[in-house]
Amino acid sequence: MKNSSNKRNKNLSAFAFLAVVLLLMLIAGDIKGGAQSVNKSSSAMGAAVFITLYGGTEDNADAMISAIKELDEKCLSPTVEGSDIFRLNENAGAELEISQKTAEILKTSLEICAKSDSALNVALGKLVKLWGIDTDNPRVPAEEEIKTALETADLSKIILNGNKAKIGEGQLVDLGAIGKGAACDIAAETAKKLGVKAASISVGGSVTFVGLKPANGVFSRFSKNEGVQWSIGIRDPFGPVSETFASVKTGPASVSTSGNYEKYFEKDGVRYHHIFSPVTGYPSDSGLVSVTVFSDSGLLSDALSTICFVLGYEKSLPVLKEYSAEAVFVFPDKTVKATDGIKDSITIKNSEFTLV
Ligand code: ADP
Ligand code: MG
Repeated sequence: MKNSSNKRNKNLSAFAFLAVVLLLMLIAGDIKGGAQSVNKSSSAMGAAVFITLYGGTEDNADAMISAIKELDEKCLSPTVEGSDIFRLNENAGAELEISQKTAEILKTSLEICAKSDSALNVALGKLVKLWGIDTDNPRVPAEEEIKTALETADLSKIILNGNKAKIGEGQLVDLGAIGKGAACDIAAETAKKLGVKAASISVGGSVTFVGLKPANGVFSRFSKNEGVQWSIGIRDPFGPVSETFASVKTGPASVSTSGNYEKYFEKDGVRYHHIFSPVTGYPSDSGLVSVTVFSDSGLLSDALSTICFVLGYEKSLPVLKEYSAEAVFVFPDKTVKATDGIKDSITIKNSEFTLV
């Protein structure tokens, strides 16, 4: 009797051991089989592109990058010959057929321009070119040149009729203020279509988070992993590129930053940066060094960050409210202000900055 019970116990332990080994193999297979994060980098729209996927594959990330490049090269690029915006600018005054995507983005952009209290103007191309801040030869133009360039920035000259569009003669369209956000949107749409569970997409100063991040870095069938909020660092406008002064916890959202430290040149001790007031034709001087906007669309967060930077703190508040967006404003004395919906999610990491 004793012998047979010993044998049964031995059999049981062997079975339990085998079960544990099998389970471990399955978990390892689960992690190896795509549950681990995938990281890819590239460049588009003159900016760096970084993609991290959780519960997605290398092929998914490649498809997202291709979608961004296609949006740039076929639709929005002002420099790639044959893109819709390139053709519209080359043929100013003539009606052209454009892709549905470009028409959609142009239509939304024009609506936001109209609501921005003259802060966002996608017809500022001539002025942007005149200053050449993004080129090797930036310069402070003469008053008369600025006046002439501003005269071409009449938004009512951009006519959209379904997939047909026309811009005014002498006009140049520049979607630099919204393109990177629109690129995040198209990558996020692609990720969702492909069934990616969670993704972080960054194109220059715009980031979109899809879904929630897995708590321990992987989605696994064996743990009840509901996902946690993302954490995004806000760049220190006074420090080196990699430096952040605060972090913000957020769910799925798009985040864009506009600042006077991104692209600029200095002459006679004055800094001339790349975000212009469509009223004065000079780099906007609204008392901010940077503004970071959180919204549920990439295009919107990008457009709004430029708008808020031009309008300044007080005038931005009603615009943000209208679009249900939140923002973090940084002032030259390192004070920081944030809208009510986001204030509690901010952690200041650099004690030189004060959240007021
Ligand atoms: P970044 O391009 O660095 O992400 P923004 O999103 O704020 O920053 O966009 C700035 C770009 O938008 C400029 O480089 C220029 O091409 C264009 N731009 C500058 N000022 C305006 C404006 N007031 N309205 C529309 N576009 C602008
Ligand atoms: Mg912008």
